[in-house]
Amino acid sequence: MNRPDDSLYDALVRRGMSRRAFLRFSALMAATLALPATYSPQIAAALESAPRLPLIWLRGQACGGNTEALLAATVPTTAELLLGLLSLEYHESLMTSSGNAAVLARTAAMERYRDGYVAVVEGAIPTADDGMACTVGGRAFRDVVQEVCDGAIAIIAVGSCAFDGGAPGANGGPTKAVGVGQVAGDARLFNLPGCPVNVENLTATIVNYLTFNEFPVTDSKRRPLFAYGGLLHNQCERRGHFEFGEFALAWGDEGAQKGWCLYKLGCKGPETFANCPTALYGGRASWAVKAGHGCIGCTMPSFWDAMGPAYQRLPAPIPFAPNISSDEIGLALVGGVAAATVVHGAATYARELRNRVVGHRRREVVFVEPAITIAEPAIAEPAEPAIAEPAETAIVVAEPVATPAGPVVESAPQPEDLAAPEES
Ligand code: SF4
Repeated sequence: MNRPDDSLYDALVRRGMSRRAFLRFSALMAATLALPATYSPQIAAALESAPRLPLIWLRGQACGGNTEALLAATVPTTAELLLGLLSLEYHESLMTSSGNAAVLARTAAMERYRDGYVAVVEGAIPTADDGMACTVGGRAFRDVVQEVCDGAIAIIAVGSCAFDGGAPGANGGPTKAVGVGQVAGDARLFNLPGCPVNVENLTATIVNYLTFNEFPVTDSKRRPLFAYGGLLHNQCERRGHFEFGEFALAWGDEGAQKGWCLYKLGCKGPETFANCPTALYGGRASWAVKAGHGCIGCTMPSFWDAMGPAYQRLPAPIPFAPNISSDEIGLALVGGVAAATVVHGAATYARELRNRVVGHRRREVVFVEPAITIAEPAIAEPAEPAIAEPAETAIVVAEPVATPAGPVVESAPQPEDLAAPEES
């Protein structure tokens, strides 16, 4: 595949970038890509020899905010970015050609760098009335997008409109605008939603390709994880105030002046995935919440319909309870936790009380382990039969009574007259 002749580093040096600034840029890219700092020499080495990447930038149904963001880039500067890192072959707002000459420049670049350029699309793509709401060189923008994306090594949709239609694609939009994914979506597509895109994320996506020869890993919406893999709320500098329940309740009130959390003024940070608090905007100077405005969730799908109104908490955070707001759910959760805590505390106290009483009683009762002994069966000696001495037999010798009948004969003692032996 064809590439511009000069290397990226040569072009940057020619633009006046110092070696120190180049290394700082490499370190910054490592940080943006959520890589350890040890990767920055590898990025620097890769960029030194990498050829500049040809870019064809298309603009459809949009306000131009992404081009504005590109022009406001400071790390690297727009000049360094456009004339050093990238080889911007076509951009209707920045090129000097116009009309047919511009169209010819685009087709020539597509031929020269076929399968070697990156197509960047800014803005939504109207589909109503055969796409006639937005035309370029007399052709529907939709057809131009399909044609340019067809020969690209990668397609990068910058901004929320190119992501999924954005504001022009919101409910009721007469042009039936859609995102790039619905026109030219495939595995080569990388979505960088945001209103506008953070140019640092665009640069990092390209640097990832130049360094590792592959584009970054994405989520199911084709958004690079390094930029859209973390919850914005978790990276916000006002998060501490959220935890302490310190909220601004009205614009300009004491809480707002003290930099407290903007949750109650409608901030969508808890529902938004983006790296705005760390990547920042305007030369890493600030971002929405730091500047005092709540996040509007512009990196999320259908944000215009799904994340609004901008200054109210989301009314329907869960699909199975569409009439319950997140605040009501929060209150219910807090109430539930409080009730559970009270019940738990009461139960613990009652258990403690009971233990104390039982313990008191236990201290009074000396519990004696029952001694279990197996007694040998007592085999009694057979008792000697107690044979009582026969009682003295009183032998009464009766005086012979002279009877005329004859002589008196003393009768001998009978056995039944003997006393029975006593039981011992
Ligand atoms: Fe979260 Fe928004 Fe509060 Fe920051 S200002 S902590 S993003 S709710």
